Amino acid sequence: MARLPKALRQGIRLLDVHTHSGISPFLYLTHAFPYCQGLRDAQEQNVRAGVTHAVVFPLCETLGYHLPSLARGKVRLGGGIGNAPFEFENTHLLRQIYEMFPQSRAMFIPFVMADALRETRNQVRILEKLIGTWPFYGIKIHPRATQARMAALGREGRPILEFARAHDLPFLIHAAWPGSADPLSNLNDLFVLARAHPKLRFCGAHFASFHLPTFEEAGRLDNVWIDSAAMVIGCECVRLKNGVYESGPRKIPADYRDPPAVFAAIARRFPDTFMWGSDNPFHTWVSAQRLANGRWIRCRLWSSLEQEVHLLRDVKGALRRKMAFENALRFLEG
Ligand SMILES: [Zn+2]
Repeated sequence: MARLPKALRQGIRLLDVHTHSGISPFLYLTHAFPYCQGLRDAQEQNVRAGVTHAVVFPLCETLGYHLPSLARGKVRLGGGIGNAPFEFENTHLLRQIYEMFPQSRAMFIPFVMADALRETRNQVRILEKLIGTWPFYGIKIHPRATQARMAALGREGRPILEFARAHDLPFLIHAAWPGSADPLSNLNDLFVLARAHPKLRFCGAHFASFHLPTFEEAGRLDNVWIDSAAMVIGCECVRLKNGVYESGPRKIPADYRDPPAVFAAIARRFPDTFMWGSDNPFHTWVSAQRLANGRWIRCRLWSSLEQEVHLLRDVKGALRRKMAFENALRFLEG
């Protein structure tokens, strides 16, 4: 069982399990918004919104990728910064927490980013050194942004799995329902990994795309959690029927005009699997992006950390504690 240090466990009332800090070269190069978030900004926002603790990881691509290719939406290595994917971003985030802003150590629970497909042994070699210097408590994987299928974690990404097992680190993985236009992040592949590795812990981000059969499958697995990252605009996507999330008859029954009511409906159905996370700063999403299947998606979707906190409006007492931090602590510590 992993254990957070005592200083990080004190005074937990609301733990955001999904916050980013750093920059996204892809979103910047494709004129999307947001594309960055400073650690101090995130800290100040959390204090204002009543978030006492936050799992934080770098944004979704690395300066280790070949930037002109990334600007055209293609991930490949070569000519980038650092000795392995995400070396720069992980080191930068940890240095800020442990050296530049040590007062932030009482709030932030750092995770590192990994690319599950490319130079995985090399990444682990660097992560082994890093964790000895600056402790971190989990690993974030983004299959779509890194263009690495979820299942790669069980193959090319095996060294990363072994590293997680050796240090008892959980995985938080960007995930989508099987009907999504993003086949790389298929939650069914996460369930296969979770079954094959019952001692490892996994969180699928983004409320299983509101797809009830997929959420039910997550609910049957003891080592899988699902977070609420960017759920306010998720409800808007359902109302718009834009195809990003399930908006048909297999969606979780709720009133999608009222996101806190949707949150409460999910919390009641899945009290031990669901947990609150904001996706800060990606609770807002403004972009024109070409998906893997060639389709373009144009989005202008706005939320705020306060609105994400407001999702907890209708959950009270023991259920609120589970959503606000207890489930997250089980995910983090086992
Ligand atoms: Zn995110």
